[in-house]
Amino acid sequence: MGMSAPGHGPSEHGEAGLEKGAVDLQRYSHALMGTFGVPMRVLARGEGSYVWDADGNRYLDLLGGIAVNALGHGHPAWVEAIATQAATLSHTSNFFATEPQIALAERLLDLAHAPSGSRVFFANSGTEANEAAIKMARKTGKGTIIALEGSFHGRSTGALALTHKEAYRAPFAPLMGDVVFVPVNDEDALRAAVAEHAADLSAIIVEPIQGEAGVIPLTHAYLALARELTRRHEALLIFDEVQTGVARTGAWFAHQLHGVQPDVMTLAKGLGGGFPVGALVAFGEGPGSMLGKGEHGTTFGGNPLAAAAALATLRVIEDEDLIANVKSVGTHLRERLEAMDGVVEVRGEGLLLGIGLAAPASAEIAQAAVKAGFIVNPPSPDTLRLVPALTLTTAEADTFLTWIEGHLAAHPLTDDGDR
Ligand SMILES: *Cc1c(COP(=O)(O)O)cnc(C)c1O
Repeated sequence: MGMSAPGHGPSEHGEAGLEKGAVDLQRYSHALMGTFGVPMRVLARGEGSYVWDADGNRYLDLLGGIAVNALGHGHPAWVEAIATQAATLSHTSNFFATEPQIALAERLLDLAHAPSGSRVFFANSGTEANEAAIKMARKTGKGTIIALEGSFHGRSTGALALTHKEAYRAPFAPLMGDVVFVPVNDEDALRAAVAEHAADLSAIIVEPIQGEAGVIPLTHAYLALARELTRRHEALLIFDEVQTGVARTGAWFAHQLHGVQPDVMTLAKGLGGGFPVGALVAFGEGPGSMLGKGEHGTTFGGNPLAAAAALATLRVIEDEDLIANVKSVGTHLRERLEAMDGVVEVRGEGLLLGIGLAAPASAEIAQAAVKAGFIVNPPSPDTLRLVPALTLTTAEADTFLTWIEGHLAAHPLTDDGDR
């Protein structure tokens, strides 16, 4: 299950110290900075929801490059779009416009049901899209930004200032000031923070579902309150949809599940289907015209190659009705997982799922999973995250469900931490 090539069974992983993957990992650690720790495997190729490592072992990829490989690996329409665009015009500089860039901006505004006057800014990553949002907050002339505990908005120093995790922040202090963190889904705390900073409030930024925190959904009431308060105080409501956007949750954008439209939405991860591209959508005339000539820029952002990759990703999501697939496979995963011993709850929407475990065993289960041919991710000690390709089939999902059910039966979770 999850394995293909005969003679490359999971039990061989890491046992023959001279396998190609082990040698490559030594080269990795001698040549690359240690920012990511030691990678789990060296991957060599991918097809659909499967990837193969340097030693030929196959894995069902339920991480999807962290919610990036929306169409799975090597989707023919995506490959063709990139190859054709690369051979036609790959990069120009922003002194020139290109058709793919214009078409992508129009498509995003259309999918977001953005009112007239709305505009798009392209970047290359999530953190960069959020940097543009920070600049917009600054342009209000006010200072304080309210962000949430558990938030993750990126690693560049502006986005990092909005990111809650102390371990990410502390070595780089002082970061941009004027950021106030409030607890998730606590409406009174949000009201109190807004009241305290009312005169100087520039923006509230939230992820509709916190991804890196372990898949923590914000409630409808909380999102609606943030909308109401920002409107009342003429501050920007910024939704970081870098992880939740682009059909991941069973809607084009997660805020559409709630009918709460922000002033600013940032996108990246799934947008390019594996090609680096980020975007900021500014809703309406005011936000759409906040950054004027010379006030922001990027060399690569929105180049025709990235735009063609994103357009192909959006087209395939529509043509293959992947939103319906996200909903049905997501529901199937949720229902079967919720019925398993050791699973306390399943959080999230669509194919952004957090499996809440009865004990802090996510790291060791993720380790066992990779040995068995399944890639899953432990964002917090008691949560496994699934963010697979939007093309994942029920049959593929079932191979993982069968494995984890067996694993949890063989290694029952107790909450005494003694596993
Ligand atoms: C991943 C992520 C980011 C950062 O994106 P990068 O492309 O890594 O810079 C920002 N916000 C959210 C919600 C994310 O999940």
